[in-house]
Amino acid sequence: MAKSNSFKAGRHFLQIPGPTNIPDRVLRAMDRAIIDHRGPEFGELGKRVLDKIKLVFKTSQPVVMYPGSGTGAWEAAIVNTLNAGDKVLMFETGQFSSLWWEIAQKFNLDIDFVPGDWRTGVDPKVVEQKLNEDKDKKIKAVFVVHNETSTGVASRIGEIRKAIDNANHPALFMVDTISSLASIDYRHEEWKVDVTVGGSQKGLLLPPGLSFNAISGKALEAHKNAKQPKHYWDWKPMLENNKNGFFPFTPATNLVYGLEEALDMLMEEGLDNVFARHVRHGEATRLAVKAWGLEILCKNPEEYSNSLTAVLVPEGCDADHLRKVILDEYDMSLGMGLNKVKGKVFRIGHLGDFNDLMLAGTLSGVEMGLKKAGVPYKPGGIMAALDFLSK
Ligand SMILES: *Cc1c(COP(=O)(O)O)cnc(C)c1O
Repeated sequence: MAKSNSFKAGRHFLQIPGPTNIPDRVLRAMDRAIIDHRGPEFGELGKRVLDKIKLVFKTSQPVVMYPGSGTGAWEAAIVNTLNAGDKVLMFETGQFSSLWWEIAQKFNLDIDFVPGDWRTGVDPKVVEQKLNEDKDKKIKAVFVVHNETSTGVASRIGEIRKAIDNANHPALFMVDTISSLASIDYRHEEWKVDVTVGGSQKGLLLPPGLSFNAISGKALEAHKNAKQPKHYWDWKPMLENNKNGFFPFTPATNLVYGLEEALDMLMEEGLDNVFARHVRHGEATRLAVKAWGLEILCKNPEEYSNSLTAVLVPEGCDADHLRKVILDEYDMSLGMGLNKVKGKVFRIGHLGDFNDLMLAGTLSGVEMGLKKAGVPYKPGGIMAALDFLSK
């Protein structure tokens, strides 16, 4: 919080699509003394957490965990499986897929980057066609961002898996789930994903600072032949140490306490209930946006994201001005439009530790802000959402 003389009563509404609100239970779980990260107590904690995290990815195979942001786990996915010159397929779905592409360029991958309009997800038909065209099976990996946090578009990973299978293609399947993990249905093993990239700060109920690679057997095979220089991100020493719950370097001890609590909470609620809650809040938000007469950035209803909604402001309006008014007047942070959609959209995060009344407050802040900022809209969005939520 910037230094200011004006005290603001009540809780700030953090409704950006990550980092998200941290449950008090997780905050309390982290408020503990550091323990010896080479001692027996940590080893037990490490083993428990590395085991429980598999439930969230829906995998029985190893998941490694880095003290680092999601960007690091993106890099880890590349350096552990691919070599310079390898042909790969990537899709421009928005800002996050573009950033992953940037990393891939730095490691000199030979990239077919399929352009996109920032309003749609990865089309399984295009995946199938591209892989069918690759007669010599030169493509080593297909990269997809599951939930494009910059646009509120969720690509259909299960269908993309089918497309890869239909083409009978051996490419590795790499998926970024940073803003979908523990919010939107995801199945690492069933969908035969080879590396799933995750992060702590969105649906996982944790502060920023941890990131993950869920790894398949096929990815481990690829690792043996991957020659990119790597040290910090190398899976090998990580997996060896992880067997006993330890790490090759200092883990983020207190975040690991928090992770165990967050995983317990997700299992108490039940993952299916967690997903259903996000579906409901996504639907209620979209009903509000439609009642306001505003346009949702995501074009295809079957690709609507249930962790956030990106909303276009009418031509001639500035979404960043609207966000500023909402922050100043109602103490709520909304996500900004990134890169190609800067100023054109604002993003409502409805993921993580979130319930009906938090959504009601969020949508009220947006509707009041639309009025205050002079954005043309039709009143009644909140009522449309409340009506749906109270059915
Ligand atoms: C937030 C996010 C990232 C970036 O993660 P950092 O932790 O900021 O490095 C990557 N991909 C997606 C889909 C995200 O939402």
